[in-house]
Amino acid sequence: MTANRAIRRSSAVAIALLALVGSLVVAQSPAQQQDEEFARLVKEWTTRPEFLSPLVDHLPKVAGVPSPKDVLGHHIGAPKKLTYYGEAVNYYRALAAKSPRVKVMTIGKTDEGRDYVVVAVGSEDSVRNLDQYRAYLAQLADPRPLSDAQARDVIAKAKPIYHLMGGLHSAETGPPEMLMELAYRLATEDSPTIRQIRDNVIVTLTPVAEPDGRDRYVDWYYAYKVDETGEEDNVGGPPFWGKYILHDNNRDINYSQVTMRALLDWYLQWHPPIVHDLHESVPFMYTFSGQAPQNPTLDPILYGELPWFSNFEMAQMTKYGMPGVWTHAFVDMWSPGYYGFMASNHNGLLRMYETFGNGGANTMKRRIDRGGEEGPMRGSQTTREWYRPLPPYTEVDWSIRNNTNYMETGVLSALQLTAAFPKVVLENFYLKSRHSIDSGKTEAPYGYVVPAGQPDMTRVAFLINILRLQGIEVGRATTEVKLQEGTFPAGSFIVKRDQPYGRLAKILLEKQNFPDPNLRTYDDSAWTMGLMTHTEVKETADKAILQVPVESVSELKIAGTVTGDPAGSGGSWVILDNGSANLTTLRYRLKDLKVQAAEKAFKVGATEAPAGSLIVAAGQSGDVAARIKAAVEPLGLSAVAAGQLPDVRMHEVKVPRLAVYSTWGSTQEVGWVRYGFDKYEVAYDLIYKERVKQGRLHDSYDVIVVPNQGGSGKRIVFDIEPKKKPLAYKTSDRFKSFGMYGESDDITGGMGLAGVEELQKFAESGGVLLTLGTASYLPAEFGITRRIDAGRPSPQFYAPGPIVEAEILQPENPIFYGYSKKTIPVRYANGPLLRVPEEDRGRQVIMQFPGGDKAVLSGLMKGASEIQRRPAIVDVPTGSGRVILFATNPCYRWQNLGEFRMLFNAVLHYSQLTARAATSNE
Ligand SMILES: [Zn+2]
Repeated sequence: MTANRAIRRSSAVAIALLALVGSLVVAQSPAQQQDEEFARLVKEWTTRPEFLSPLVDHLPKVAGVPSPKDVLGHHIGAPKKLTYYGEAVNYYRALAAKSPRVKVMTIGKTDEGRDYVVVAVGSEDSVRNLDQYRAYLAQLADPRPLSDAQARDVIAKAKPIYHLMGGLHSAETGPPEMLMELAYRLATEDSPTIRQIRDNVIVTLTPVAEPDGRDRYVDWYYAYKVDETGEEDNVGGPPFWGKYILHDNNRDINYSQVTMRALLDWYLQWHPPIVHDLHESVPFMYTFSGQAPQNPTLDPILYGELPWFSNFEMAQMTKYGMPGVWTHAFVDMWSPGYYGFMASNHNGLLRMYETFGNGGANTMKRRIDRGGEEGPMRGSQTTREWYRPLPPYTEVDWSIRNNTNYMETGVLSALQLTAAFPKVVLENFYLKSRHSIDSGKTEAPYGYVVPAGQPDMTRVAFLINILRLQGIEVGRATTEVKLQEGTFPAGSFIVKRDQPYGRLAKILLEKQNFPDPNLRTYDDSAWTMGLMTHTEVKETADKAILQVPVESVSELKIAGTVTGDPAGSGGSWVILDNGSANLTTLRYRLKDLKVQAAEKAFKVGATEAPAGSLIVAAGQSGDVAARIKAAVEPLGLSAVAAGQLPDVRMHEVKVPRLAVYSTWGSTQEVGWVRYGFDKYEVAYDLIYKERVKQGRLHDSYDVIVVPNQGGSGKRIVFDIEPKKKPLAYKTSDRFKSFGMYGESDDITGGMGLAGVEELQKFAESGGVLLTLGTASYLPAEFGITRRIDAGRPSPQFYAPGPIVEAEILQPENPIFYGYSKKTIPVRYANGPLLRVPEEDRGRQVIMQFPGGDKAVLSGLMKGASEIQRRPAIVDVPTGSGRVILFATNPCYRWQNLGEFRMLFNAVLHYSQLTARAATSNE
């Protein structure tokens, strides 16, 4: 069928349906005054009649209760109007001030200091007794003290909370607008449908999940996008949304970012059985049904509930004549790391929409047919399929009001279903919680042991505290633990599976066995926490773990130790390198002291000090002993005094002048490195093409890190295509959010070949250039490392973030200080397949991938033989400096803590990264 015929046929169906709908559904209350202007304008702003529904084509007018227009000055969905975060919060506060059905709760602050809020809407009874309803849900979330009869009693009194989130992704501008209208409608409308929702369901919402990014995006919209007329003059988005990680705020599996953490904390206090995350991408509205691959550890009830809701929405909206509402074929249920998964991970129901949006508020023609595109969005989204009974059109004029109509109609339909079956939703929530506890008593594994006495307990603390953050109970064994897998010392950490979040513990700690290599997945296929953090975690099939006596752990803090006395100014302190990333922080906290690193293991009395241990001479000015104590103890490190300077080869660890290079077009992965450096207190300048093109880089910097970004050397070099006029990113009175984290007169154009030349001069004149992940295409493709080639795997190769083995070939290289094993787990980063001339391999390849299926430790790698013997890190002397190419990404999200040290070591030991092969035999 040709595209045009498809449009005509779909339109005909839609129009026929519309005629039918008009006579069936009357969704407004005849007794209530309606806002006639709203009805007229909404009709005008909606580009085709079938893009409107009887649920949202009207809005009541209620004396004394402000509508969005009363506060914002315009109705929701007005062309060329986007609402700043502060204005939205003002609206909700104004609504709450006048309606006993609305309450605003402040749950934290954003990175840039904005209040982070959650809004509740319900009947007067619900809002007055919110705490009581919260308590009922808490009982269902942890039903261990309840009998089934008692649970039934709680369910009879409880109401489900349905939580909605908009604005996680700042370029997806519609949801934060729609939610204001939704809140007003739920609080004021007297139609039977809305009354039933208000009485039976408590609706809570995160108006904007990334407030800092919202304001920056709205600034950007008014600066550059408000005049866009079509896809061809799209200038793209601002270089940043929030402070660090843009789109990846939906991949923050360990809740590193403050807003992500604030909402998780709120979630674990309120236990909404449903969390619904509102996104924008595919046409016209996709409602998530949780297609394969699915994580089999989650409750099967969840996989029944997902299509229960999405099919209802699709059926309702199709009935209203709205084309393009579909389900099933987008995103899957494998990774637990998406933000909204906080619900499904905690026995609730995750829901998600993708509504079609224009990245602003302009009405424009959109070409939709994307047939032939590769990746998870491959294939056309306009074909008729069993899961897409009335497809979207191949071309459409689309407005932000269309977007509002679709999303709000969908959400109201979902709420209608919840309100019709509130007890079913609550029963399911209760049963999923109950099953999680029960499955831990009847199905292996029954739990996990994180043994005490691991050389680096700070990584153990990282892991334990993330489990705790997620509400998972962790105990500390009060006696020695004997299980069929072995004996573990008293003090070991015990995660028992017979707890409400026992299933989540299993998901996070187990090896990921991807169910079918022929399936694709939307994000990572592996996340096994022990492998990611290089921490020992033992899974047990021994039921005895459930009986191990424990003390509960609320937060694990590792107290560092300082032992002995250097006995005078000739002595020294040795801070042991057991692999903790905190050793890096220690160096920065003592940045004014001379610190040296041992190049080999040695003994201090009876204590073994591994290579990489830091040595601080006691005779330096100031109270060195007090400084050591103040730094070592809170960082959980171990320092031992030595009567003299140890007799071991050592080098000075100078604090480097460090820069992190970012393109303007791809700041996200740079953001993760910035976040990692900030958390570990590594000082750096964030630089862009502007600084690189100025040249004389080695006058300012010893080390430049180019984080994973762009996907190819070409994209890093040429970055954003120049537009008709410059895109400045500089702060001004009108656009206050610009210029944060860097300034530019024009963010387009990239560093260009002149910039590449400067990076080359930097390395040749003695600088250390570190490229991570896909950024390692840059030196190879642009000749900075002339003899290194960077290839790509075959089209059959597929590696969505598995964890694989890497083999350290030069253990003496300072990059590997803190690593005691020769073979370590790393996350496969889909960096370049590097090739080093055979005669240079021995000196330059310092880590490699053994490759093959046996080396895949968790998750999916299809075609694992293609990486056999490929370099994972290459150290290339260049002039008097060097280029170090990581094919791995040693700072991947807030996740692969076990790899961070390779990056930190390369930075701190920059002056000693001479090729170690020559000296490794001595
Ligand atoms: Zn999104």
